[in-house]
Parts: sequence; C-alpha cells; structure tokens
Amino acid sequence: MNKIKFLGTAGARFVVMKQLRASGGLWLSLDDTDVLIDPGPGSLVKCMTSKPKFNPLDLDGIILTHRHLDHSNDINVMIEAMTNGGLKKKGVVFAPQDALEGDPVILKYVRDYVDRVEILKERGNYTLKNISFSTPVKHVHGVECYGLNIQAENMSISLVSDTQYFEGLESYYPGDVLIINVVRVEPTEHIFHLSIEDAEKIIAANKPKLCILTHFGMTMIRAKPWEIAHQLSEKHGVEVIAARDGMSIDLDK
Ligand SMILES: [Zn+2]
Repeated sequence: MNKIKFLGTAGARFVVMKQLRASGGLWLSLDDTDVLIDPGPGSLVKCMTSKPKFNPLDLDGIILTHRHLDHSNDINVMIEAMTNGGLKKKGVVFAPQDALEGDPVILKYVRDYVDRVEILKERGNYTLKNISFSTPVKHVHGVECYGLNIQAENMSISLVSDTQYFEGLESYYPGDVLIINVVRVEPTEHIFHLSIEDAEKIIAANKPKLCILTHFGMTMIRAKPWEIAHQLSEKHGVEVIAARDGMSIDLDK
C-alpha cells in the first residue's frame, strides 16, 4: 500500500517547543520503499505510539531536507532504530553537507551504521530502493535546504520544504501530490518561510491532484488550517487539505 503518514505537522520553534502539534516528520511508503523525511523531536515516540506502530527497522532510508532542529532532532536515534542499534548495517541517509560537518547534526559514529550517506545538492538525483527523487533547487532558508520531487512508478510527490518565496519557486515542484510547508498566514520578511499567499501561487500554477499543507507555525494554528485549506480548494478547484497529526493519506485512491 502506498501511503504518507504524518508523524507531525508542527513548524518552527514555538509550535514545536510547546508541542502544540507533534514534530515527528513524514513516513512515506511508496513502491515497497519506506522512507522517513525530517525526523524532528518526538519522531521515534510517534513511530512507537502510532496505531498500528511504525517499525523503524522497516525503513530503507531517511532524508533530511535541512539541519534545523524541528527537522533533524531525532535523526540519530532514528538511524540507530533503523539499524537495530547499529547491529544491522542497512539503509541510506540523505542530507545536505552542512548537516554533516562543522557542528554536525548527524553524529559521526552513527554514520557507520548505514550502507551509505549521500549528500544532497542542488539539481541532485538520487535512488532509494524502488523510488528516485531529486532536489531541484537550493532553498532560501539560512541553512542549506532542499525540497524533494519523489518519483514512484505511478505517481510523483513534491515536498516544498522550508524556504522564503523566490521567483519561479512553483516551477520546480510539479508533483501529482504537492506537500507544502506553510509556517505563516501572512508573508513576513526575513522569516525564510512560506505563507499562505506563497503556497497559493504554487497551487494556482501547478494544479496538483492533491495538495497537503503542513508544518504549521503559530499564526497558521490560530487561523485554523483546515478552514484555509477549504477556502483554497474552492478558489482553485484543487483538493487542498490541512495535515493533522497522525493523518495517513492513502495514495492509491
Ligand atoms: Zn527550517
């Protein structure tokens, strides 16, 4: 079964710190390939407390879009869990260079537990078991950050990770299913995050089969993201939904 499980929908510091929404990232099961994207704080706990449980040993890989803590906090423990505490060497970790050097968020000793670590780069193409993905453009986010275009046999999924809006952003993410990290309602300078107005430009230009908004900051939570999603659906004739913690999307439908 092809599906996306939202182990968290929190974005940015305050919603994460107060755990107003969970912050465990996304678990994607696609063409018999299991990948965890952006395991923020509580990812392991959410895997274990979901019903049914998500067994980290089933993972084929972990993708980190960028090093910020709300995306990376649990990456080391998830690498341990994926590899049975390092006893079973397996899996691939994908991350930008700055997650691995300087003040690395991926600890050196766990890197030996996986089959390989691959560095994400602008216009990079990668393969993980039965799926492939690309990182089409470097985002504007203060640290090295990439969105993903994931290609499976019968569908494509685009994930627009954290970024400030920039001219032409929408042209990079043409997936059938479009997931957008929308932290704010209103555009705000120097915040380096997308607003609803920005998300709308991508939706209007790309008309995906399904759009899922997630990674909500305080202003989004207060504004009731499900109501915003409903308004966007009506306005653009595209199915837009707001992610909820624990939500599972059946991609075969
Ligand atoms: Zn970020």
